[in-house]
Amino acid sequence: MTKNAPEQKVKKRRPRTCVGCGEESPKRELLRVVRTPEGIVCYDPTGKANGRGAYVCARRECIEAAKKRRSFARALNREVPDELFDELLKRCAADE
Ligand SMILES: [Zn+2]
Repeated sequence: MTKNAPEQKVKKRRPRTCVGCGEESPKRELLRVVRTPEGIVCYDPTGKANGRGAYVCARRECIEAAKKRRSFARALNREVPDELFDELLKRCAADE
């Protein structure tokens, strides 16, 4: 408990859980989807965009599970366009 530890730092250490399989993963293995303050849901390649984020593993099965179960829509309280899933799938194909 040093006086140099700002509260914000603690908040950022929430575990990042995949909406597809429900497992926690290190941040870089997850793709971030963000709902911007304007209410637009999009893929966030930087992982730093403003807004509410949800995560999915960079794995086809997790992305497809998330799509089927509308996990992002529930996590972000906003409908998610099919194109977003296409983008995520493209992203995980590029990593393999
Ligand atoms: Zn997963």
